Amino acid sequence: MNLSDRLTDTFRILPAQAVALKKIGVDTIEDLLYYFPTRYGDTAKVTHISTLSKGDQAVVFGQISGLKTSKGYRSKIPMSEGFVEDETGRMKIVWFHQAYLAKMLVEGSFVRVEGKVSDRKGDLYFSNPKIEPVTKLPIGVGDSLFGEGSDVHTLYPVYPETRGVSSNWIFHKIQTIFSSKILDTIEDPIPKEIRDKYNLPTLRTALVWIHTPQKESDAEAARKRFAFEEIFFIQLDKQKTKYEFKESNAFVIDKSIEDINKFIDRFPFKATEGQKKTIEDILTDFRRGHPMARLLEGDVGSGKTAVAAATAYAATTSRPKGQNFGTLQTAYMVPTEILAQQHFESFIKYFKHMPINIALITGSGCRKFPSKVNPDGWTDISRTQLLKWVASGEISILIGTHALIQKSVKFKHLAFAIIDEQHRFGTAQRQKLVQKDALVPHLLSMTATPIPRTLALTLYGDLDLSLLDQMPEGRKQIITEIVLPGQRKNTYEQIRKELEAGRQLYIICPRIDEPDPDKETAILAKSVKEEAKRVKKKIFPEYEIGILHSKMKPSEKEKIMLEFKDKKLDILVATSVVEVGVNVENASLIIIEGAERFGLAQLHQLRGRVLRGTHQPYCFVFAETKTDKTLERLRALKTAKNGFELAEFDLKQRGGGELYGRKQWGISDLAMEAIKNIKMVEAARTEATKIIESDPKLSKHPNLKLYIETKGQKIHFE
Ligand code: ADP
Ligand code: MG
Repeated sequence: MNLSDRLTDTFRILPAQAVALKKIGVDTIEDLLYYFPTRYGDTAKVTHISTLSKGDQAVVFGQISGLKTSKGYRSKIPMSEGFVEDETGRMKIVWFHQAYLAKMLVEGSFVRVEGKVSDRKGDLYFSNPKIEPVTKLPIGVGDSLFGEGSDVHTLYPVYPETRGVSSNWIFHKIQTIFSSKILDTIEDPIPKEIRDKYNLPTLRTALVWIHTPQKESDAEAARKRFAFEEIFFIQLDKQKTKYEFKESNAFVIDKSIEDINKFIDRFPFKATEGQKKTIEDILTDFRRGHPMARLLEGDVGSGKTAVAAATAYAATTSRPKGQNFGTLQTAYMVPTEILAQQHFESFIKYFKHMPINIALITGSGCRKFPSKVNPDGWTDISRTQLLKWVASGEISILIGTHALIQKSVKFKHLAFAIIDEQHRFGTAQRQKLVQKDALVPHLLSMTATPIPRTLALTLYGDLDLSLLDQMPEGRKQIITEIVLPGQRKNTYEQIRKELEAGRQLYIICPRIDEPDPDKETAILAKSVKEEAKRVKKKIFPEYEIGILHSKMKPSEKEKIMLEFKDKKLDILVATSVVEVGVNVENASLIIIEGAERFGLAQLHQLRGRVLRGTHQPYCFVFAETKTDKTLERLRALKTAKNGFELAEFDLKQRGGGELYGRKQWGISDLAMEAIKNIKMVEAARTEATKIIESDPKLSKHPNLKLYIETKGQKIHFE
């Protein structure tokens, strides 16, 4: 047996089990060993057979007898049967679909049985219980169970189950793997010095402890080790990427802050300290000859676009080496068409005094500024034409959706790549934008998603961090109100007054978790349509209402956004797609339905939509439940100073798993819990950095290298 052996080649696996294993992402022996219990059942609840009654969830210890396999009388379902007996009585056991169990257990041996007591015509029996052989029966089960000398495990692993594989099945398979002595051959990829320094058990010990702990503290130590391991590997991978990236060559963009100030002085506002500092840091990076890799984090409305424009200006006013014409090129990638168009237009405003071409590329078409016929405006151009001009270097700034990273898009002198709302893109997409040519473009990644610092350190360990933690002066404060089910009527009336005064309203429909993305969009689309109908019929019949959701075609979406912008619509009912920076200045009201289903940081981002105008903005957070915990959480929206504070609050209260779990980042729930622990994250980062600095290719750490190469692929930073 080898760690990399496939389970299907090692055990007899039924087709339904194969499907289930695939679903939980378990393919090899190693995967199964890394499938950890979520909790441990405790034998403190051990009961005597004579005291059991129908419906009890019970643990009993006893001797097994009368084992046989059979088939259901009518159903023909294969099953195992047997009896468990303690000093107080005897009870039948039936396992459906698990005929193998009868053969695995030894007649007369001592077992621990955990399961539900069922009843058939007055006869009690255990139906599909979990069963485990034990070497010794606890004497007088109950008080003396924890008596000295007992070698019975007191903690039993409970694994996340899925249709087709039970916790019991997983437990038995893991026990079989353990008894194969495979653990003796396992090599620990974490260097001994690091294990000793942080008091982490070896891989072998940790595996035993996590699956069959003798005591709570063993399980805890094992969990700590695996959490450290995961974060440490991510950090190693990130530090390695960072090192390699920094080793490559990039265009030298040598501009002083004075050069850039000429551009900044044209802004209709004064740059904030955060903006100035970030721009200066970027200019420093630009001069190095090695590519910058920087993440700019700032709340919605903190002015990231201005930073992007000012630094794009630095590239745009630089000549390619050895050339006395043309400019270095900038690519600006954003996640949606609406946003791409909006940025295209704001860049035209920023750059129209300069003799350069700016272009837009999206799935639905291409545009170029300036137009030959109208030097103040843009014109539609063909894709072929655009590609030609990008390749010849005539387009200085290209803004677009992911259409920008298609193979056919070739730049002449791509020196600077900007990614907006970077969390919306996968690593692969980001990497494509900064593809390794002879010269690697400088990368500025921007996000308004406030994530806790520990998570940022882990996920973005390969990037340098800049923060815009201060809003531009004179910004209005959003008045946020939490609206409980009984208070809606009053709130709608309050909103009506604002609508009468000419304001506009967003209504955001609740988030719906559905593993299948297609289904999810369909459900969301439906809820948006229904909410719009309801609002039109029952609440605001006198107003024009539009809808926006991701099942709509980009052109339809754009049409609706324009109608909303032009005030042909008063109310826009939408899914959280409007989360992404769309600018409608007159929309000063937002209702968020089912608010408890969103993370606080996301709610904060959503309400940022109404921060754009001159009118007093309001955010109405509609809650469906009113438990104290929900209310306390939502109230944080009123008190927190910025998105980062909210993200930390969420992490503390709900834990990382729920908010930023596997679905979003591909990090295990266990490691996400560890994200709460800044000390552990920093330790993992420090150790990883040390290793990469002394051994960048990991040639002295072959085990680690192998682990990163195989495990790294499983982590996707979407
Ligand atoms: P985000 O960080 O969400 O991308 P934007 O770049 O879209 O924010 O900026 C939001 C608004 O704030 C824009 O209208 C922009 O012109 C304005 N703005 C940016 N910087 C400043 C500043 N320093 N002072 C005042 N307004 C600013
Ligand atoms: Mg933005």
